[in-house]
Amino acid sequence: MAYAGELSSQTVEGALAWLSFEYVGIPFIIPLWLLFVISITGHEQWITRGRLVALFVAPTVTMVAMLTSHWHSLFLTNPRLNPSGPLLTLDFDGGLLYWLSQFYDNLGMVLITIMIIRWWVRSQPAFRRQAQIFLLGTSLQWAGLAIFVLGIAPYNLDLSSLTLVLVGLIFMIGLFRFRALDLVPMARDVIFNHMADGILVLDVTNRVIDLNPAIQEMLTVRPGAIGQLASDILRSWPGLVMQIANNAPVKVEFEGFSRHFQSELTPVRDKANQVTGKIVTIHDTTQTFQMLEQMRVLATRDPLTNLYNRRYFTELGNREFDRLSRHAGMISFVAIDIDHFKQVNDTYGHAGGDKVLQSIAKLIETTIRKPDIACRSGGEEFWALLPDTSITEALIVAERLRMEIEQFDAPFENTWIRVTASFGVSGSGHATRVTLSEMLNCADQALYEAKSGGRNCVRWCPCGE
Ligand code: GH3
Ligand code: MG
Ligand code: MG
Repeated sequence: MAYAGELSSQTVEGALAWLSFEYVGIPFIIPLWLLFVISITGHEQWITRGRLVALFVAPTVTMVAMLTSHWHSLFLTNPRLNPSGPLLTLDFDGGLLYWLSQFYDNLGMVLITIMIIRWWVRSQPAFRRQAQIFLLGTSLQWAGLAIFVLGIAPYNLDLSSLTLVLVGLIFMIGLFRFRALDLVPMARDVIFNHMADGILVLDVTNRVIDLNPAIQEMLTVRPGAIGQLASDILRSWPGLVMQIANNAPVKVEFEGFSRHFQSELTPVRDKANQVTGKIVTIHDTTQTFQMLEQMRVLATRDPLTNLYNRRYFTELGNREFDRLSRHAGMISFVAIDIDHFKQVNDTYGHAGGDKVLQSIAKLIETTIRKPDIACRSGGEEFWALLPDTSITEALIVAERLRMEIEQFDAPFENTWIRVTASFGVSGSGHATRVTLSEMLNCADQALYEAKSGGRNCVRWCPCGE
Protein backbone atom coordinates (compact mmCIF):
# COMPACT_ATOMS: atom_id res chain seq x y z
CA MET A 1 0.00 0.00 0.00
CA ALA A 2 2.80 2.36 0.87
CA TYR A 3 4.51 1.54 -2.43
CA ALA A 4 1.27 2.38 -4.21
CA GLY A 5 1.33 5.71 -2.35
CA GLU A 6 4.93 6.23 -3.48
CA LEU A 7 4.00 5.58 -7.12
CA SER A 8 1.09 7.94 -7.04
CA SER A 9 3.09 10.80 -5.54
CA GLN A 10 3.63 13.81 -7.78
CA THR A 11 6.48 15.34 -5.75
CA VAL A 12 9.83 14.04 -4.54
CA GLU A 13 8.91 15.01 -0.97
CA GLY A 14 5.67 13.05 -1.14
CA ALA A 15 7.37 9.97 -2.58
CA LEU A 16 10.09 10.18 0.09
CA ALA A 17 7.46 10.38 2.83
CA TRP A 18 5.87 7.17 1.55
CA LEU A 19 9.28 5.54 1.27
CA SER A 20 9.97 6.41 4.91
CA PHE A 21 6.68 4.79 5.82
CA GLU A 22 7.74 1.66 3.88
CA TYR A 23 11.00 1.55 5.76
CA VAL A 24 9.24 1.17 9.09
CA GLY A 25 8.62 -2.43 7.95
CA ILE A 26 11.02 -3.38 5.14
CA PRO A 27 14.22 -3.79 7.24
CA PHE A 28 12.50 -6.25 9.57
CA ILE A 29 11.11 -8.60 6.93
CA ILE A 30 14.26 -10.65 6.46
CA PRO A 31 15.18 -11.14 10.17
CA LEU A 32 11.57 -12.06 11.01
CA TRP A 33 11.48 -14.43 8.06
CA LEU A 34 14.72 -16.00 9.25
CA LEU A 35 13.29 -16.48 12.75
CA PHE A 36 10.19 -18.03 11.25
CA VAL A 37 12.26 -20.52 9.24
CA ILE A 38 14.41 -21.33 12.29
CA SER A 39 11.21 -22.12 14.19
CA ILE A 40 9.49 -24.27 11.58
CA THR A 41 12.65 -26.28 10.99
CA GLY A 42 12.85 -27.05 14.70
CA HIS A 43 15.95 -25.06 15.64
CA GLU A 44 14.40 -22.82 18.29
CA GLN A 45 17.32 -23.51 20.58
CA TRP A 46 19.43 -21.28 18.29
CA ILE A 47 17.30 -18.30 19.23
CA THR A 48 18.84 -16.73 22.29
CA ARG A 49 18.21 -13.27 23.74
CA GLY A 50 21.67 -12.08 22.68
CA ARG A 51 21.29 -13.30 19.11
CA LEU A 52 17.83 -11.75 18.83
CA VAL A 53 19.23 -8.35 19.80
CA ALA A 54 22.18 -8.79 17.38
CA LEU A 55 19.81 -9.78 14.59
CA PHE A 56 17.76 -6.61 14.96
CA VAL A 57 20.60 -4.08 15.30
CA ALA A 58 21.19 -3.66 11.56
CA PRO A 59 17.48 -3.38 10.61
CA THR A 60 16.93 -0.77 13.31
CA VAL A 61 19.91 1.25 12.05
CA THR A 62 18.51 1.00 8.51
CA MET A 63 15.09 2.19 9.63
CA VAL A 64 16.47 5.13 11.57
CA ALA A 65 18.84 6.02 8.71
CA MET A 66 15.94 6.14 6.26
CA LEU A 67 13.64 8.10 8.55
CA THR A 68 16.35 10.71 9.10
CA SER A 69 17.68 10.67 5.53
CA HIS A 70 16.87 14.31 4.85
CA TRP A 71 19.50 15.28 7.43
CA HIS A 72 22.37 13.20 6.06
CA SER A 73 23.51 11.36 2.96
CA LEU A 74 24.39 8.06 4.54
CA PHE A 75 21.32 6.30 3.21
CA LEU A 76 20.31 8.02 0.00
CA THR A 77 21.24 11.03 -2.08
CA ASN A 78 19.86 12.80 -5.07
CA PRO A 79 16.25 11.64 -4.90
CA ARG A 80 14.33 12.32 -8.13
CA LEU A 81 11.20 11.30 -9.92
CA ASN A 82 11.61 9.20 -13.04
CA PRO A 83 8.94 10.13 -15.59
CA SER A 84 9.95 7.56 -18.24
CA GLY A 85 7.05 5.18 -17.60
CA PRO A 86 3.35 5.65 -17.15
CA LEU A 87 3.91 5.95 -13.39
CA LEU A 88 6.30 8.31 -11.68
CA THR A 89 8.86 6.16 -9.87
CA LEU A 90 11.28 7.42 -7.25
CA ASP A 91 14.96 7.01 -8.07
CA PHE A 92 17.85 7.78 -5.79
CA ASP A 93 21.55 7.01 -5.37
CA GLY A 94 22.17 4.59 -2.52
CA GLY A 95 24.51 5.62 0.27
CA LEU A 96 26.77 3.37 2.34
CA LEU A 97 24.02 2.31 4.74
CA TYR A 98 21.67 1.55 1.87
CA TRP A 99 24.15 -0.90 0.33
CA LEU A 100 24.93 -2.44 3.72
CA SER A 101 21.24 -3.06 4.29
CA GLN A 102 20.98 -4.63 0.83
CA PHE A 103 23.89 -6.89 1.71
CA TYR A 104 22.27 -7.82 5.05
CA ASP A 105 18.96 -8.67 3.38
CA ASN A 106 20.53 -10.80 0.66
CA LEU A 107 22.72 -12.64 3.11
CA GLY A 108 19.59 -13.33 5.17
CA MET A 109 17.76 -14.60 2.11
CA VAL A 110 20.65 -16.95 1.32
CA LEU A 111 20.54 -18.33 4.89
CA ILE A 112 16.76 -18.73 4.72
CA THR A 113 17.03 -20.56 1.43
CA ILE A 114 19.78 -22.88 2.65
CA MET A 115 17.75 -23.78 5.75
CA ILE A 116 14.60 -24.49 3.79
CA ILE A 117 16.45 -26.60 1.22
CA ARG A 118 18.14 -28.55 4.02
CA TRP A 119 14.78 -29.11 5.68
CA TRP A 120 13.28 -30.21 2.37
CA VAL A 121 16.14 -32.63 1.62
CA ARG A 122 16.13 -34.15 5.09
CA SER A 123 12.39 -34.32 5.68
CA GLN A 124 10.56 -37.61 5.69
CA PRO A 125 8.40 -38.15 2.57
CA ALA A 126 5.25 -37.58 4.63
CA PHE A 127 6.36 -34.09 5.60
CA ARG A 128 8.03 -33.13 2.32
CA ARG A 129 4.91 -31.41 0.99
CA GLN A 130 5.19 -28.77 3.69
CA ALA A 131 8.85 -28.15 3.01
CA GLN A 132 7.97 -27.80 -0.69
CA ILE A 133 5.41 -25.10 0.04
CA PHE A 134 7.97 -23.04 1.91
CA LEU A 135 10.57 -23.67 -0.76
CA LEU A 136 8.12 -22.40 -3.37
CA GLY A 137 7.49 -19.22 -1.39
CA THR A 138 11.19 -18.58 -0.99
CA SER A 139 11.90 -19.21 -4.68
CA LEU A 140 9.25 -16.68 -5.60
CA GLN A 141 11.06 -14.00 -3.62
CA TRP A 142 14.29 -14.84 -5.45
CA ALA A 143 12.43 -14.64 -8.77
CA GLY A 144 11.19 -11.16 -7.83
CA LEU A 145 14.74 -10.13 -7.03
CA ALA A 146 16.08 -11.60 -10.28
CA ILE A 147 13.52 -9.68 -12.33
CA PHE A 148 14.53 -6.48 -10.55
CA VAL A 149 18.27 -7.04 -10.92
CA LEU A 150 18.02 -8.03 -14.59
CA GLY A 151 16.04 -4.87 -15.21
CA ILE A 152 13.19 -6.65 -16.98
CA ALA A 153 10.51 -5.43 -14.60
CA PRO A 154 7.75 -3.56 -16.42
CA TYR A 155 8.02 0.24 -16.08
CA ASN A 156 11.02 -0.14 -13.78
CA LEU A 157 8.66 -1.14 -10.95
CA ASP A 158 10.01 -2.79 -7.79
CA LEU A 159 8.07 -6.04 -7.69
CA SER A 160 9.24 -7.14 -4.26
CA SER A 161 6.21 -5.67 -2.51
CA LEU A 162 4.01 -7.68 -4.85
CA THR A 163 6.02 -10.90 -4.47
CA LEU A 164 6.06 -10.47 -0.71
CA VAL A 165 2.28 -10.46 -0.65
CA LEU A 166 2.26 -13.66 -2.71
CA VAL A 167 4.92 -15.23 -0.49
CA GLY A 168 2.78 -14.37 2.53
CA LEU A 169 -0.23 -16.04 0.93
CA ILE A 170 1.75 -19.16 0.06
CA PHE A 171 3.13 -19.37 3.57
CA MET A 172 -0.36 -19.06 4.98
CA ILE A 173 -1.45 -21.98 2.80
CA GLY A 174 1.56 -23.92 4.04
CA LEU A 175 0.75 -23.10 7.63
CA PHE A 176 -2.93 -23.74 7.72
CA ARG A 177 -3.76 -26.05 4.86
CA PHE A 178 -0.82 -28.39 5.25
CA ARG A 179 -0.51 -27.77 8.96
CA ALA A 180 3.17 -26.99 8.73
CA LEU A 181 3.18 -25.79 12.29
CA ASP A 182 1.76 -29.04 13.61
CA LEU A 183 3.90 -30.44 16.33
CA VAL A 184 4.71 -33.70 14.63
CA PRO A 185 6.73 -32.66 11.58
CA MET A 186 8.59 -30.01 13.55
CA ALA A 187 9.24 -32.21 16.50
CA ARG A 188 10.54 -35.12 14.48
CA ASP A 189 14.04 -33.66 14.05
CA VAL A 190 14.03 -32.26 17.57
CA ILE A 191 13.13 -35.63 19.07
CA PHE A 192 15.63 -37.47 16.93
CA ASN A 193 18.43 -35.09 17.87
CA HIS A 194 17.63 -34.77 21.55
CA MET A 195 16.60 -38.30 22.45
CA ALA A 196 18.61 -39.87 25.24
CA ASP A 197 18.42 -43.21 23.43
CA GLY A 198 20.74 -43.75 20.51
CA ILE A 199 19.18 -44.39 17.12
CA LEU A 200 20.81 -45.85 14.06
CA VAL A 201 18.93 -46.18 10.78
CA LEU A 202 20.34 -48.74 8.34
CA ASP A 203 19.42 -49.80 4.83
CA VAL A 204 19.10 -53.45 3.76
CA THR A 205 22.83 -53.74 3.16
CA ASN A 206 23.45 -52.44 6.71
CA ARG A 207 24.77 -49.11 5.52
CA VAL A 208 24.11 -46.15 7.80
CA ILE A 209 21.31 -43.90 6.53
CA ASP A 210 21.00 -41.77 9.63
CA LEU A 211 22.10 -41.65 13.26
CA ASN A 212 21.42 -39.27 16.12
CA PRO A 213 23.95 -37.45 18.33
CA ALA A 214 23.14 -39.70 21.30
CA ILE A 215 24.42 -42.85 19.58
CA GLN A 216 27.56 -41.05 18.43
CA GLU A 217 28.30 -40.12 22.02
CA MET A 218 27.32 -43.51 23.49
CA LEU A 219 29.30 -45.70 21.14
CA THR A 220 31.95 -43.08 20.29
CA VAL A 221 31.12 -43.21 16.60
CA ARG A 222 33.26 -40.72 14.72
CA PRO A 223 31.52 -38.15 12.50
CA GLY A 224 30.92 -38.99 8.87
CA ALA A 225 29.34 -42.34 9.59
CA ILE A 226 26.50 -41.87 7.12
CA GLY A 227 26.97 -44.08 4.09
CA GLN A 228 29.37 -46.42 5.85
CA LEU A 229 28.80 -50.04 6.80
CA ALA A 230 27.52 -50.60 10.34
CA SER A 231 30.20 -53.24 10.85
CA ASP A 232 32.88 -50.63 10.09
CA ILE A 233 31.69 -47.85 12.36
CA LEU A 234 30.79 -50.21 15.22
CA ARG A 235 34.00 -52.22 15.17
CA SER A 236 34.44 -51.79 18.93
CA TRP A 237 31.02 -53.34 19.58
CA PRO A 238 31.11 -56.90 18.21
CA GLY A 239 27.95 -57.90 20.11
CA LEU A 240 25.97 -55.20 18.39
CA VAL A 241 27.48 -55.92 14.99
CA MET A 242 26.48 -59.57 15.41
CA GLN A 243 22.91 -58.61 16.28
CA ILE A 244 22.67 -56.40 13.20
CA ALA A 245 24.22 -59.07 10.95
CA ASN A 246 21.84 -61.73 12.27
CA ASN A 247 18.81 -59.45 12.25
CA ALA A 248 18.21 -60.65 15.81
CA PRO A 249 14.90 -59.16 16.91
CA VAL A 250 15.42 -59.83 20.62
CA LYS A 251 16.89 -57.28 22.99
CA VAL A 252 20.65 -57.68 23.25
CA GLU A 253 22.77 -56.61 26.20
CA PHE A 254 26.34 -55.57 25.52
CA GLU A 255 29.00 -53.67 27.39
CA GLY A 256 32.21 -51.77 26.86
CA PHE A 257 34.32 -49.02 28.44
CA SER A 258 32.52 -49.86 31.72
CA ARG A 259 29.13 -48.95 30.30
CA HIS A 260 26.20 -51.26 29.65
CA PHE A 261 23.76 -51.01 26.81
CA GLN A 262 20.66 -52.70 25.55
CA SER A 263 19.93 -52.67 21.86
CA GLU A 264 16.76 -53.41 19.98
CA LEU A 265 16.33 -53.96 16.29
CA THR A 266 13.18 -53.02 14.40
CA PRO A 267 12.78 -53.80 10.72
CA VAL A 268 11.43 -50.99 8.53
CA ARG A 269 8.92 -52.10 5.92
CA ASP A 270 7.46 -50.31 2.92
CA LYS A 271 3.81 -50.40 1.86
CA ALA A 272 4.31 -53.77 0.16
CA ASN A 273 5.64 -55.13 3.46
CA GLN A 274 9.12 -55.47 2.03
CA VAL A 275 11.95 -54.85 4.48
CA THR A 276 13.71 -51.68 3.34
CA GLY A 277 16.00 -51.21 6.30
CA LYS A 278 16.20 -51.37 10.03
CA ILE A 279 16.26 -49.13 13.04
CA VAL A 280 18.62 -49.94 15.90
CA THR A 281 17.73 -48.35 19.23
CA ILE A 282 20.37 -48.27 21.95
CA HIS A 283 19.48 -47.68 25.56
CA ASP A 284 22.17 -46.95 28.15
CA THR A 285 21.48 -49.37 31.01
CA THR A 286 24.66 -48.64 33.01
CA GLN A 287 22.79 -47.17 35.96
CA THR A 288 20.22 -49.95 36.08
CA PHE A 289 22.95 -52.53 35.74
CA GLN A 290 25.01 -51.03 38.56
CA MET A 291 21.93 -50.78 40.75
CA LEU A 292 21.05 -54.41 40.11
CA GLU A 293 24.61 -55.42 40.86
CA GLN A 294 24.47 -53.46 44.12
CA MET A 295 21.14 -55.02 45.01
CA ARG A 296 22.48 -58.47 44.23
CA VAL A 297 25.37 -57.94 46.63
CA LEU A 298 23.04 -56.51 49.26
CA ALA A 299 20.65 -59.42 48.89
CA THR A 300 23.27 -62.18 49.05
CA ARG A 301 26.09 -60.94 51.29
CA ASP A 302 26.49 -60.11 54.94
CA PRO A 303 27.79 -56.54 55.01
CA LEU A 304 30.17 -57.00 57.95
CA THR A 305 32.08 -60.09 56.81
CA ASN A 306 31.15 -60.17 53.11
CA LEU A 307 30.32 -63.86 53.51
CA TYR A 308 27.01 -65.03 52.08
CA ASN A 309 24.01 -64.30 54.26
CA ARG A 310 21.81 -67.02 55.69
CA ARG A 311 19.04 -66.61 53.11
CA TYR A 312 21.35 -66.95 50.12
CA PHE A 313 23.26 -69.81 51.78
CA THR A 314 19.99 -71.72 52.14
CA GLU A 315 19.20 -71.10 48.48
CA LEU A 316 22.66 -72.25 47.33
CA GLY A 317 22.59 -75.19 49.76
CA ASN A 318 19.29 -76.49 48.46
CA ARG A 319 20.58 -76.19 44.91
CA GLU A 320 23.62 -78.22 45.98
CA PHE A 321 21.38 -80.93 47.41
CA ASP A 322 19.50 -81.14 44.13
CA ARG A 323 22.77 -81.53 42.24
CA LEU A 324 24.14 -84.18 44.62
CA SER A 325 20.95 -86.19 44.62
CA ARG A 326 21.54 -86.89 40.95
CA HIS A 327 24.72 -88.82 41.61
CA ALA A 328 23.97 -89.79 45.23
CA GLY A 329 26.96 -87.88 46.56
CA MET A 330 28.16 -87.35 50.11
CA ILE A 331 27.62 -84.13 52.00
CA SER A 332 28.76 -82.60 55.27
CA PHE A 333 27.82 -79.56 57.29
CA VAL A 334 29.83 -77.58 59.86
CA ALA A 335 28.30 -75.15 62.38
CA ILE A 336 30.75 -72.79 64.10
CA ASP A 337 30.02 -70.64 67.16
CA ILE A 338 32.60 -68.39 68.79
CA ASP A 339 33.10 -69.08 72.48
CA HIS A 340 32.26 -66.45 75.10
CA PHE A 341 31.89 -63.83 72.44
CA LYS A 342 29.97 -61.60 74.84
CA GLN A 343 33.20 -61.21 76.78
CA VAL A 344 35.02 -60.00 73.67
CA ASN A 345 32.41 -57.29 73.26
CA ASP A 346 32.56 -56.47 76.94
CA THR A 347 36.36 -56.22 76.93
CA TYR A 348 37.10 -54.57 73.60
CA GLY A 349 33.79 -52.98 72.76
CA HIS A 350 31.53 -53.69 69.82
CA ALA A 351 34.17 -52.56 67.33
CA GLY A 352 36.59 -55.13 68.75
CA GLY A 353 33.92 -57.83 68.39
CA ASP A 354 33.28 -56.80 64.79
CA LYS A 355 36.99 -57.00 64.00
CA VAL A 356 37.12 -60.55 65.36
CA LEU A 357 34.08 -61.55 63.30
CA GLN A 358 35.76 -60.20 60.17
CA SER A 359 39.01 -62.04 60.93
CA ILE A 360 37.25 -65.34 61.63
CA ALA A 361 35.22 -64.98 58.43
CA LYS A 362 38.49 -64.55 56.47
CA LEU A 363 39.95 -67.62 58.16
CA ILE A 364 36.91 -69.72 57.29
CA GLU A 365 36.94 -68.50 53.72
CA THR A 366 40.59 -69.37 53.18
CA THR A 367 40.40 -72.73 54.94
CA ILE A 368 37.45 -74.26 53.08
CA ARG A 369 37.76 -75.46 49.47
CA LYS A 370 36.36 -73.77 46.41
CA PRO A 371 33.17 -75.81 46.03
CA ASP A 372 32.34 -75.38 49.73
CA ILE A 373 29.79 -72.74 50.68
CA ALA A 374 30.18 -70.66 53.84
CA CYS A 375 27.93 -68.05 55.41
CA ARG A 376 27.47 -65.97 58.50
CA SER A 377 24.26 -67.46 59.79
CA GLY A 378 23.83 -64.74 62.43
CA GLY A 379 25.59 -63.07 65.34
CA GLU A 380 28.87 -64.92 65.99
CA GLU A 381 27.81 -68.09 64.20
CA PHE A 382 28.95 -69.41 60.85
CA TRP A 383 27.93 -72.33 58.68
CA ALA A 384 29.79 -74.23 56.02
CA LEU A 385 28.35 -76.77 53.60
CA LEU A 386 30.91 -79.19 52.19
CA PRO A 387 29.61 -81.06 49.14
CA ASP A 388 31.19 -84.39 48.11
CA THR A 389 32.83 -84.54 51.55
CA SER A 390 32.55 -87.44 54.00
CA ILE A 391 31.98 -86.72 57.66
CA THR A 392 35.54 -87.94 58.38
CA GLU A 393 36.99 -85.38 55.99
CA ALA A 394 34.65 -82.71 57.41
CA LEU A 395 35.95 -83.46 60.90
CA ILE A 396 39.49 -82.93 59.69
CA VAL A 397 38.51 -79.60 58.13
CA ALA A 398 36.73 -78.55 61.35
CA GLU A 399 39.64 -79.55 63.54
CA ARG A 400 42.10 -77.66 61.35
CA LEU A 401 39.90 -74.57 61.45
CA ARG A 402 39.50 -74.87 65.23
CA MET A 403 43.28 -74.91 65.67
CA GLU A 404 43.76 -71.98 63.30
CA ILE A 405 41.21 -69.89 65.19
CA GLU A 406 42.78 -70.83 68.52
CA GLN A 407 46.19 -69.64 67.34
CA PHE A 408 45.02 -66.62 65.44
CA ASP A 409 45.70 -63.11 66.76
CA ALA A 410 43.06 -60.77 65.43
CA PRO A 411 44.66 -57.29 65.29
CA PHE A 412 42.61 -54.61 66.99
CA GLU A 413 43.82 -51.10 67.73
CA ASN A 414 47.13 -51.56 69.58
CA THR A 415 46.49 -55.08 70.70
CA TRP A 416 45.54 -58.59 69.62
CA ILE A 417 42.35 -60.45 70.36
CA ARG A 418 42.31 -64.21 70.67
CA VAL A 419 39.16 -66.29 70.63
CA THR A 420 38.23 -69.94 70.39
CA ALA A 421 35.25 -71.54 68.71
CA SER A 422 33.11 -74.64 69.11
CA PHE A 423 32.19 -76.85 66.20
CA GLY A 424 29.24 -79.08 65.43
CA VAL A 425 29.66 -81.30 62.39
CA SER A 426 27.01 -83.40 60.67
CA GLY A 427 27.30 -85.48 57.54
CA SER A 428 25.67 -88.07 55.35
CA GLY A 429 27.03 -90.51 52.80
CA HIS A 430 23.85 -90.11 50.79
CA ALA A 431 22.63 -86.64 50.07
CA THR A 432 19.36 -88.15 48.86
CA ARG A 433 18.46 -89.29 52.34
CA VAL A 434 18.68 -85.94 54.13
CA THR A 435 17.61 -82.36 53.76
CA LEU A 436 19.57 -79.23 54.49
CA SER A 437 17.47 -78.45 57.56
CA GLU A 438 17.96 -81.95 58.95
CA MET A 439 21.72 -81.60 58.63
CA LEU A 440 21.48 -78.21 60.27
CA ASN A 441 19.58 -79.60 63.26
CA CYS A 442 22.11 -82.41 63.62
CA ALA A 443 25.04 -80.01 63.53
CA ASP A 444 23.31 -77.76 66.04
CA GLN A 445 22.93 -80.67 68.42
CA ALA A 446 26.61 -81.54 68.04
CA LEU A 447 27.50 -77.89 68.60
CA TYR A 448 25.48 -77.90 71.84
CA GLU A 449 27.51 -80.93 72.95
CA ALA A 450 30.74 -79.11 72.09
CA LYS A 451 29.64 -76.15 74.19
CA SER A 452 28.69 -78.27 77.18
CA GLY A 453 31.80 -80.38 76.69
CA GLY A 454 34.07 -77.45 77.52
CA ARG A 455 34.06 -75.42 74.26
CA ASN A 456 36.97 -75.03 71.80
CA CYS A 457 36.31 -78.55 70.48
CA VAL A 458 34.63 -80.40 67.63
CA ARG A 459 31.65 -82.74 68.09
CA TRP A 460 29.78 -84.58 65.40
CA CYS A 461 26.56 -86.33 64.69
CA PRO A 462 25.70 -88.52 61.68
CA CYS A 463 22.35 -88.07 60.02
CA GLY A 464 20.26 -89.72 57.38
CA GLU A 465 22.07 -93.06 57.70
P1 GH3 B 1 28.96 -69.10 74.04
O1 GH3 B 1 30.37 -69.53 74.32
O2 GH3 B 1 27.98 -69.89 74.88
O3 GH3 B 1 28.65 -69.13 72.63
O4 GH3 B 1 28.87 -67.63 74.59
P2 GH3 B 1 28.61 -66.36 73.73
O5 GH3 B 1 28.83 -65.16 74.57
O6 GH3 B 1 29.42 -66.40 72.47
O7 GH3 B 1 27.12 -66.60 73.31
P3 GH3 B 1 25.87 -65.72 73.11
O8 GH3 B 1 25.10 -66.28 71.96
O9 GH3 B 1 25.13 -65.62 74.42
O10 GH3 B 1 26.35 -64.28 72.77
C1 GH3 B 1 26.64 -63.92 71.48
C2 GH3 B 1 27.04 -62.45 71.48
O11 GH3 B 1 27.49 -62.05 70.21
C3 GH3 B 1 25.91 -61.57 71.85
C4 GH3 B 1 26.00 -60.40 70.90
O12 GH3 B 1 26.16 -59.18 71.57
C5 GH3 B 1 27.26 -60.68 70.12
N1 GH3 B 1 27.07 -60.31 68.72
C6 GH3 B 1 26.14 -60.76 67.88
N2 GH3 B 1 26.27 -60.17 66.65
C7 GH3 B 1 27.32 -59.32 66.76
C8 GH3 B 1 27.95 -58.40 65.84
O13 GH3 B 1 27.56 -58.27 64.68
N3 GH3 B 1 29.01 -57.68 66.28
C9 GH3 B 1 29.45 -57.81 67.58
N4 GH3 B 1 30.50 -57.07 67.95
N5 GH3 B 1 28.87 -58.63 68.45
C10 GH3 B 1 27.82 -59.39 68.08
MG1 MG C 1 25.83 -67.91 69.60
MG1 MG D 1 29.00 -67.92 71.06
